[in-house]
Amino acid sequence: MKYKIAFFLLFCSQIITAQTGPYVKLRFSLSNSEMKQLLRSGFDPEGMYKVPTAVNLFEAELSQEELRLVKSISKQTEVLISDLGRYYENRALNDVARNNNSIVPPPGFQLGTMGGFLNYTQIVNMLDSMRRRYPNLISAKKSIGNTLEGNAVYVVKISDHPDKDEPSEKQVLYDAMHHAREPQAMMQLMYFMWYIMDRYEKKDPIAQYIINNRELYFIPIVNPDGYLYNASIAPNGGGMWRKNRSTNIDATRGVDLNRNYSYDWGYDDVGSSPLGNSNTFRGPSAFSEPETQNMRNFVNTKKFKSNLSYHTFGGYLIYPFGARENYYTPDSNMFRLYADSLTKDNGYSAGTVFETLNYFANGGSCDWMYGDSSHSKIFSFTPEVGFANDGFWPTPSRIIPLCEENIAPNLFMAKYTVNGLDVITSDTTFSTENSLNINLTYFSAGLENNKKIKSYVDFYNHAALVSNLDTFNSNGLATFSKLPFSFAVNFNAPLLNKTEIPYRIVSIIDGEIQYDSSILIIDKTVGIKQENRKKEISIYPNPSSSIINIEYTLQKNTSIKLYSIEGKLISEHRSNSIDISALVPGIYFVSVVENNKIIALESFQKQ
Ligand SMILES: [Zn+2]
Repeated sequence: MKYKIAFFLLFCSQIITAQTGPYVKLRFSLSNSEMKQLLRSGFDPEGMYKVPTAVNLFEAELSQEELRLVKSISKQTEVLISDLGRYYENRALNDVARNNNSIVPPPGFQLGTMGGFLNYTQIVNMLDSMRRRYPNLISAKKSIGNTLEGNAVYVVKISDHPDKDEPSEKQVLYDAMHHAREPQAMMQLMYFMWYIMDRYEKKDPIAQYIINNRELYFIPIVNPDGYLYNASIAPNGGGMWRKNRSTNIDATRGVDLNRNYSYDWGYDDVGSSPLGNSNTFRGPSAFSEPETQNMRNFVNTKKFKSNLSYHTFGGYLIYPFGARENYYTPDSNMFRLYADSLTKDNGYSAGTVFETLNYFANGGSCDWMYGDSSHSKIFSFTPEVGFANDGFWPTPSRIIPLCEENIAPNLFMAKYTVNGLDVITSDTTFSTENSLNINLTYFSAGLENNKKIKSYVDFYNHAALVSNLDTFNSNGLATFSKLPFSFAVNFNAPLLNKTEIPYRIVSIIDGEIQYDSSILIIDKTVGIKQENRKKEISIYPNPSSSIINIEYTLQKNTSIKLYSIEGKLISEHRSNSIDISALVPGIYFVSVVENNKIIALESFQKQ
């Protein structure tokens, strides 16, 4: 009997080893030609990174199969972690910082039981609890189809009438977890959903604008089978299975869903493999897998404008095309512009697969979203959340910070949906003693042709200042062009020295209003200075009669300044919450100041 048990255990562990690992973390050297050789074999570089202090030295998280491959090519290898699954599991269990997070997550958000990550059942239950809490903001979950093993792939919609289709509202798609071992991608989407609904309830103007004018669709997990498999081999997190759970013709398991889309499917074997045991096996044909079929069928019934398809890790933002060298979309300038804005806050490096990771991959979802003609052109990006130290299973205490750093891009994508106008204010000069010129540049962010744009400078009823109105047609901006413009502003009354006058450029694009705030600093000894707002902050509730909250992570040297509409400094604060009950009703401004520079500015209304 004893022998039988021992034999059984041995048998089990061999199965697990043969199919899943152990995965190792390897440091290895590769010359440029060795790297090419490695990539030509379909090797998956997601989760591989260059050691910053050394030339041609890399680290990566590898299956046994990949380990053999790298060892056969590299001249110098060193195993840093011999069982990554166990390493991740222990690291999560021993994460002493897990409960000392200073960031308060939005109400409703909770960590899960899989090393801090929600498991599949917890994801599904959380979608239900979102609906229970915000029935007017989020739809009930709907399945876009089942997986091979019969698990539902769910989508929910966040909008002001979530149970109705409103064709005039632009649609944005957020998805995550094509890859089963990348749960941080899903966590940050769940976090963002709670976040935006909470902010809407608290009357945050950006959240209100987005939810009232957009339809945001969320598919938090494209590949539940792979994730459930990871839960079965590593219930506390750390499972390293990447693909779905298809049984391949050679009896190996799994297809890489992010190589199974039809655009450039199987173009070559770089970053995509014809072999079933490879982590980048692209499947026997394009869309051979129910998971990618679900995505295709769903996307083709919608009119998505833009898409963020989340992965981990590396701190990248990748956009099409991915399959070939020097192979860019006709919209690559626009992708670049959007990527600049999407990464402004979290500092991820942006580019095509080749520009960011120096490799290629075919059959990816983003290329299909953008390039396939079965639907309208979708501006699709792949963020790779998290960094080398985070790996595929960040510690519980890193989950919320990684969620936080993706709020800004999620908001940006929803707000602009690749059809916007960016206004860059450049400089301001006195033209006469009684007038000044505000010089700015309009920057088309994918503005469609034949849009009517009205633009003016709003000084929030500042009695001394009046600007002219600018009206133009987007045809002049059609090809990612810049249009310089100068607003003449006349003084009705003398401007006081040392005042800071907030203003905003209001642009109305076919009835849709966009604001870009800035501030003039009147200093008669040096003239007029202008500070551009660089970051977006939001103030909630707004309007408010008692307390306002400023959403911004305060640094040691941050101060929050409160101004009257005339630009008079009222008070200075070092906290995110300000009591405004003593103020007279009206419009006020808040600026965030760091190192004596105004880095953000927003208005609010005191009731
Ligand atoms: Zn991935």
